[in-house]
Amino acid sequence: MSFTVAIDGPAAAGKGTIARAVAARFGFAHLDTGLLYRATGRRTLDGTAPLDAARALQADDLADEAGLRTQEVGQAASRVAAIPEVRAALVDFQRAFATRMGGAVLDGRDIGTVICPDAAVKLFVTATDDERARRRHAELAAKGHAVTLEQVAADLRERDARDRGRTDAPLRPAPDAKVLDTSTMSIDEAVAAAIAMVADARDDRPGA
Ligand code: C5P
Repeated sequence: MSFTVAIDGPAAAGKGTIARAVAARFGFAHLDTGLLYRATGRRTLDGTAPLDAARALQADDLADEAGLRTQEVGQAASRVAAIPEVRAALVDFQRAFATRMGGAVLDGRDIGTVICPDAAVKLFVTATDDERARRRHAELAAKGHAVTLEQVAADLRERDARDRGRTDAPLRPAPDAKVLDTSTMSIDEAVAAAIAMVADARDDRPGA
């Protein structure tokens, strides 16, 4: 049967790490929905219209993860993500993924609110602005990107403001989401907390 875990939150709060760990622990498939918007955004950088870019998306576009994880592509992603028609073009793929047999974890901004409002588990993963900037800066520095903490903080602020302020599917917790603030948690602690929440929900299922 299908079992959907929806994980939302602002940039660099730890949702990707948590989503991958939950998927590995329970044997669920994982979709980082940010990559769909990043791949769409990247296509627009060479002049393709946003909706054409979203409609032309193919599995191959998601392969070059390093190329998709740059700040430039992240900004392009959040600009195309504010266009309702672009979001609509990506809904069916995400919903089909969410309901596949054997369970699925999707992480993004609107999974619990729009894509999978009936998800079995909804987590909203967050952390303070300073902590998120520090983590993303360390991640980029480890990959050899020459960027200052201030530049990273400004990039996250701009992207979060756009994601929270858009009219279609703004970033916000679903009313029934459990909020996981990872500001003072280690990665292992945050992952353990999320796994415990998913395990609880699985045990609570009728017939489990
Ligand atoms: O998660 P990530 O930082 O890779 O997402 C890049 C951008 O894609 C976000 O800033 C957001 O604008 C957009 N996005 C979205 N809805 C999702 C996932 C990502 O709007 N479900």
